[in-house]
Amino acid sequence: MAQRADHRDILVVLETRGDHFPKTSLEVLSKARELADGLGCRVEALVLGTDVEGLGEVAIHQGADIVLLGRHEELTIGNIDAYFAAALPVVKERKPEIVLMSATPLGLDLAPRLGAALGTGALSDATKLDVDETDRLLIAKRLTYDGSVEAAATIPRHRPQIASLRPGAARPGFPDDSRYGSVESLDVDVPKAALKVQLLGIEDEPLPEAPLESAEVVVTGGLGFTKDEFALVQQLAHALNGAWGASRAAVQFGLAPAERQVGATGHHVAPKLYVAAGVSGQFEHYYGIRDADTVVGINADKKAPIFRYAQYGLIGDAREIIPKILEYLKKE
Ligand SMILES: Cc1cc2nc3c(=O)[nH]c(=O)nc-3n(C[C@H](O)[C@H](O)[C@H](O)COP(=O)(O)OP(=O)(O)OC[C@H]3O[C@@H](n4cnc5c(N)ncnc54)[C@H](O)[C@@H]3O)c2cc1C
Repeated sequence: MAQRADHRDILVVLETRGDHFPKTSLEVLSKARELADGLGCRVEALVLGTDVEGLGEVAIHQGADIVLLGRHEELTIGNIDAYFAAALPVVKERKPEIVLMSATPLGLDLAPRLGAALGTGALSDATKLDVDETDRLLIAKRLTYDGSVEAAATIPRHRPQIASLRPGAARPGFPDDSRYGSVESLDVDVPKAALKVQLLGIEDEPLPEAPLESAEVVVTGGLGFTKDEFALVQQLAHALNGAWGASRAAVQFGLAPAERQVGATGHHVAPKLYVAAGVSGQFEHYYGIRDADTVVGINADKKAPIFRYAQYGLIGDAREIIPKILEYLKKE
């Protein structure tokens, strides 16, 4: 078992897309910075990819103290064997106290592999990460029982404490050009024998709609609409350059497909503006939108739960209110 005292700092594994970071990497880096400030330790960013040279400064400006650039032609999106082969020796050598990554398909695979190889645990798909500064314990909140229970989990004895953070569960930090740190290039070795899966190619499936997680505006509809009327929700989302979503009840009643569900068991969203129309706003719905900056509720019932947490409320028939907003937006 790895001894606690041997381990220090937070190491964050950052995925890349070509010569830039995806938003998920910036989110987890910002969370690592926040936790490291609480613990009084450094953030080491392990940047893995094929075109990482220009990313050292970016990672420093986004919160890293030390950046380790690992370049290898096999470090392409989806090549989990290559990422594991590249990350494991670094984690062994640096002996971090905490290892973080994003709960992307790659992170969800990498975290438990590292945990098993290092004889420690991995807390996957955390919706919230905190630290107990006294015991230097990472506390990961995760949804269990189909999203109805939020459970806190820790790795009390083994080190490093590994966790992956759900996309959208933290905000990317603002770049600070005055930050400085060190950038080192690593010799990455990905032995051919380590590559058990041969990646033949990657095909992007065209997204018919704006993704919910990264949208700055989200408009969600619930059972206040019929299937035909639900188009109003989509029209308002499009007019506001946002993404549209649906309550679970709306999905269950066939008003919207499951991939549009927002809430505890659907997408976790953190937009600047969240509009819930004809949505009662029960706890399970609130759970998935609790990081929204501003919530607007449109509901016929002034006692609807959405008005307990919405900053703005429009009480009335959403089928009449939305066309008026659309008309106004068109004029503007
Ligand atoms: C384990 C579990 C997980 C869950 N996960 C999720 C989840 O991820 N996401 C989620 O959303 N729910 C989830 N739920 C369900 C949640 O508890 C609610 O049942 C659901 O959110 C209700 O959806 P709704 O608001 O569309 O419907 P309702 O609760 O029926 O509310 C409809 C609302 O529309 C209003 N209304 C009706 N007509 C109009 C109109 N013409 N104009 C304006 N307002 C109108 C009504 O006043 C009412 O407030 C979960 C439940 C469980 C048990």
